Amino acid sequence: MYKVSIIGLGYVGLSLSTFLASKGIHVWGYDKARWKLESLKKGKLYISEEDLETEFNRAVSNGLFHISEKLEESITHSNITFICVDTPTKEDWRQDYSSIISAAKSIGKILGKLDRYHLIVVKSTLLPESSRKIIIPAIEQESGLLVGRDFGYIYNPEFLREGKALYDLRSPNRIVIGEYDNKSGDIIYAFYKEIYDEKTPIFRMTIENAELLKYVSNVFLSLKISFINLIARVCEKTPNTDINIISEALKTDPRIGPYLQAGIGFGGQCLPKDLKAFISFVEEIGIKSALLREIYFINEEQAIWPINILKQVYHDLKDKVICILGLTFKPNTNDIRNSQSIKIISRLLDEGAVVKIYDPEGLENFLREYYYLPVIPCNSIEKCLEDTDAVIIATDWDEFKLLEPKTFKKLMKTPLIIDGRRIYDVNKFKDDVIYFGVGYHSRPFKTLLEI
Ligand code: NAD
Repeated sequence: MYKVSIIGLGYVGLSLSTFLASKGIHVWGYDKARWKLESLKKGKLYISEEDLETEFNRAVSNGLFHISEKLEESITHSNITFICVDTPTKEDWRQDYSSIISAAKSIGKILGKLDRYHLIVVKSTLLPESSRKIIIPAIEQESGLLVGRDFGYIYNPEFLREGKALYDLRSPNRIVIGEYDNKSGDIIYAFYKEIYDEKTPIFRMTIENAELLKYVSNVFLSLKISFINLIARVCEKTPNTDINIISEALKTDPRIGPYLQAGIGFGGQCLPKDLKAFISFVEEIGIKSALLREIYFINEEQAIWPINILKQVYHDLKDKVICILGLTFKPNTNDIRNSQSIKIISRLLDEGAVVKIYDPEGLENFLREYYYLPVIPCNSIEKCLEDTDAVIIATDWDEFKLLEPKTFKKLMKTPLIIDGRRIYDVNKFKDDVIYFGVGYHSRPFKTLLEI
């Protein structure tokens, strides 16, 4: 009978806890942030994820999801502990281990008092060798126990996508088990075999392979995005080309595959920080990182793309009123961490522009985090568009896709649309409004002024 504790109830931990409880497993969830526990006790979720709130409340009322106020309670009730705490990147791009070391030590103290074997499963993203050199020693030191003999250890990276967390947990592409020893590997293998059908591939490997694989996976995704954005720049300067046409056809080659949407670049909690940490890791072990650094620089420049367009049109942005549609780093989440919108907004404010903002889910988080920025928050798209000199589409939310050229023309002072996510049909927009899209060769601005 599996009983699990989950340490860290953020995007990964809360989604994982809810999913496991929906499978009939007893889950004790603990987070050091008391406000998160208080919020969960009221049935109110602080993250926005498809189906999550309903599934969470069902799991609580079925008596399967226990919200723990004490770490000790969660560990002692369980036989497997999943660690899902944050592993950010420091200013110098090195991995910041403070949360995970603190969690490992606290867990170690409790394990030392338990008189039975316990399995630790780390889901947080960790650079190669971190488990063996940092996390396992921290647990051993605090507990006085020996890994392999008294407790087991697994590095089990998470590949879920925010916005689709429950879907991805229900149908993962793969499960990766980085095992300290056979015993730990056998336990977690059996655990996942009970949850998933035989079609789900399960890869068993060394801890270091699993740690490296997680980074390689995220870095490769960021490489694809920066690559297509580089080609988008080529399209912008080459008549009769369009990145959307190119990428649609490109994706059909199975050797290349999907995830080739041009835009203003990637953000979020994972790709930017993992890319930076991996660059610092690669350089530390003496490998040239020019290719990886270029992924980062292209992405930084993509955030400036809308500003460059605005300057082409207006030269001086002082007192220009700019509407930003989208604050989250992607649609269907309220996560604004490292979103490209934030870079755009800061830059516009530096240039003296007046910035109006709207997002269907991310406004509250934005205003809490960036309360000091003098922006004008709006509670509808229409309010945000009113009397503006330009609009920047920064996130591809479905509700933005429904907007027609006539709405922009009616509400805006000048219907200048900067489509940072390529959500509009160029043919429908190009004659009625002033339209610029990433990777689309727009007509010279002189002609556009005639609209
Ligand atoms: P998050 O910041 O949303 O959540 C982390 C949680 O851990 C927070 O609620 C924090 O209060 C809690 N925490 C920190 N230290 C703690 C401690 N000592 N004891 C108890 N709780 C503690 O982070 P996240 O987005 O859920 O990511 C967690 C990990 O999973 C990271 O390593 C991340 O890189 C990785 N990951 C994230 C995603 C994603 O889409 N967000 C996907 C795959 C992997």
